[in-house]
Amino acid sequence: MSATYNFCAGPAMLPHAVMEKAQQELLDWNGQGVSVMETSHRSKEFIALTEQAESDLRELMNIPSNYHVLFMHGGGRGQFSAVVNNFLGEDGKALYLKGGQWSNAAVDEAIKLVGEDKIDSIEIVQKDNGLNKVVLPEFEGDKEQYRYLHYCPNETVNGIEIFDEIDCPWPVIADMSSTIMSREIDVSRFGVIYAGAQKNIGPSGLSIVIVRDELLALPSLKQSSIMDYRVAVKNGSMYNTPPTFAWYLAAEVFAWLKSLGGLKQVAIANEKKAQLLYQCIDSLAFYRNGVAVENRSNMNVTFQLADDALNDKFLAEAKAQGLIALKGHRVVGGMRASIYNAMPYEGVEKLVQFMEAFAKENA
Ligand code: PMP
Repeated sequence: MSATYNFCAGPAMLPHAVMEKAQQELLDWNGQGVSVMETSHRSKEFIALTEQAESDLRELMNIPSNYHVLFMHGGGRGQFSAVVNNFLGEDGKALYLKGGQWSNAAVDEAIKLVGEDKIDSIEIVQKDNGLNKVVLPEFEGDKEQYRYLHYCPNETVNGIEIFDEIDCPWPVIADMSSTIMSREIDVSRFGVIYAGAQKNIGPSGLSIVIVRDELLALPSLKQSSIMDYRVAVKNGSMYNTPPTFAWYLAAEVFAWLKSLGGLKQVAIANEKKAQLLYQCIDSLAFYRNGVAVENRSNMNVTFQLADDALNDKFLAEAKAQGLIALKGHRVVGGMRASIYNAMPYEGVEKLVQFMEAFAKENA
């Protein structure tokens, strides 16, 4: 069978080498005669795995020592409420940047929990010659005005990425679900980074939270213990039984990223893949991407065909060639190729060849 390239936005393709190793270890992990899923999270073998995972993640992302790394439940959305409950006390307010589907959803959740008067928001995407472009305002003001500023650097649905870092007087909280570890970032510029795992880390359900120490002194709302960062820190992310298999797979993905040479190399590869695909879209009148060049996502490439009536044909013929899960999110329509870290260059090459042939036959 020829290779299948999975362009799903999440749960996304995982590195082939990691999946093969997991397959080999499924019935016998670490010479124990049982799988990691059947191993106590308190066992010395599993604790060693978690220590290695944290140390690899710290090395990959160059995480300063005044940051905690937490492995939590509840994916990306779980963190929409967790950040509110962890950082907004009785009188705190927060500022949210709205740049697409996911940052908008985070606003809705925050308002649901603390009410509209505690959550200010700014729309940051504007139309520029028909293209979606991010325009960040000047952030000035009183340090005490907001407990935090929340934004989403990569909008998975809309294919919009914000490469500039945010300069503001408040701690920045970033939903990095679909961009984490795709390139190097300066962690010290963030108060909290969180990410659902199912794109660049591992299986869905797990989320990773990187939180600056001093923020845990802020007053928080009464909340469930399993989403409380302070409880997670105190218990080494094991207040309750953690998603052990997801943690194991994440650890394997971190080791794999290190074997590639770390995030600097990974970013070069990602840039190359994205360029190849955008070049194809730009060079053929048959396809259109609606995002300003400086905000085009390197992870989620959205595009429309010249005629929407051809969408089903495109998807069916792509699938027949092993190019799967290219359908765009229902909100934006068209196509979306998610090309996270695990997508090899050959996968994008094959997609581009298919797109060229399809355009020729159907123009
Ligand atoms: N944030 C972003 C940027 C996402 O892409 C997603 C999922 N696609 C989420 C949050 C929600 O993640 P989950 O489904 O794990 O709750």
